[in-house]
Amino acid sequence: MKKRRLIFGMISGLLIIFIIVTASNAMLVTSRQPSPQPTVVMINEVKAVEHLSKAITYKTISYQKRSKFDFTEFDKFISFLEESYPSIHTQLELEKINEYGLIYKWQGSDSSKNPIGLTSHYDVVPVLEGTEDNWEQPPFSGTVENDKIWGRGTLDDKVGVIGILEAVEFLINDGFKPARDVYLMFGFDEEIGGDEGALKIVNTLKARGVTFDFVLDEGGAIVENMVPGVDQPVGVVGISEKGSATSELSIEGSGGHSSQPKNHTNIGRIAGAIAKLEDTQFKGDLRGPGEDLFEYVAPEMSFPMRYVFANKVIFEPIIEQILLQQPATAALIRTTIAPTIFQAGEQYNALPEKATAIINHRLMPGDSLEDVKSFIEDTIEDDAINVTVTGSEASKVSSTNGWEFKSIQQAARNVYKDAIIAPYLMFAGSDAKHYDSISKNTYRFLPVQITSQDLNRMHGTNEHISKDNFINAIKFYAEIIKESNS
Ligand SMILES: [Zn+2]
Repeated sequence: MKKRRLIFGMISGLLIIFIIVTASNAMLVTSRQPSPQPTVVMINEVKAVEHLSKAITYKTISYQKRSKFDFTEFDKFISFLEESYPSIHTQLELEKINEYGLIYKWQGSDSSKNPIGLTSHYDVVPVLEGTEDNWEQPPFSGTVENDKIWGRGTLDDKVGVIGILEAVEFLINDGFKPARDVYLMFGFDEEIGGDEGALKIVNTLKARGVTFDFVLDEGGAIVENMVPGVDQPVGVVGISEKGSATSELSIEGSGGHSSQPKNHTNIGRIAGAIAKLEDTQFKGDLRGPGEDLFEYVAPEMSFPMRYVFANKVIFEPIIEQILLQQPATAALIRTTIAPTIFQAGEQYNALPEKATAIINHRLMPGDSLEDVKSFIEDTIEDDAINVTVTGSEASKVSSTNGWEFKSIQQAARNVYKDAIIAPYLMFAGSDAKHYDSISKNTYRFLPVQITSQDLNRMHGTNEHISKDNFINAIKFYAEIIKESNS
């Protein structure tokens, strides 16, 4: 009897200690958000809106087929920039790389400091044939109505180009002089990979030995209802980009007549292999930029959620299970498997000689192409199936500890004082990956507040931006230049 009471006492004692320790962990979590210093940047809004509206009217369209590019539109766009930003074109050096890639260099006063770079692209995706009439305003009209600016490129990514130029024009006229060199770099073929624009810009600067402390490109934005348990909008800054790979699974031989098939045909074996891969999946693991996101967001969460994340060591398996339930959060913590093409057979009564499946993967930083290949081979356990994996590895992971990330946080909070600014893992690629080789850090952040509908409109129908969002983007770019030169 005594013994049982002792055990009971010990267990409740341990439980009390557990509760005290875990609860104090949750209470001791401190915010990682800098206090906002509200921006005092005052933009001539009418003029800025006029400029973005005009910029939309140039059909600087990227086509998969490079021969379809209409470069007269690109020429006109560049002339429009020269007319619209007189101070920039007298104070900054403009260099055209491969004719249409633009580098503006704003000389700093302190040559001991590394430069920073702001980049975006002025090409846009085409409007899908047959959808023109679905637009509320014609896609290349640049119509301004009800506090919105309409057209292709208002979000992706002429808002970046015009936003940056408006900010710099303002700062020059305001008498601001940067300490470090500031490079503005604009690509013209981002939508088809950036090989002729961003990549050539990077190669030129690399040959000159230029190394940036950071380069900021488009990417994450300020979104609401993204993280469960967080009421405030969250501004996500991409600190890395997942890799993109294609694996091909193929099997050959043993065709024959369909009247006497073997138990396992080519189609059956490839289908079986895919089923095994989907059942197994890459292991979900909360690490890297996905983990960073929650470290920055957790302090701002309601108590129950904060409790869970503050005691991640204990609750990690549960957190991972929750994240794995939704495709969008699952993609944050694991390499993905997306079978996209399945090819086999031509005739209903003949067994195909060959069956092939193509799977698209987005790789977590840390999972290499080689890892993907071994994972597939180990999982399918079928030596007759040939596996090849090609593609690009995940980009490097940029720092969140240095002044660089903190400046982005500060600049964003100065404009969007209620937003939580957190690091994040990008699923899609942009020009930023090219800059990895000449920059200590590459960040991916478009300083606008967007909804999930806006995301669909970016490469779809009815792309538009509110005036407020556009003006805030300009203010952010002015703030980031000031922050990184203070
Ligand atoms: Zn873009």
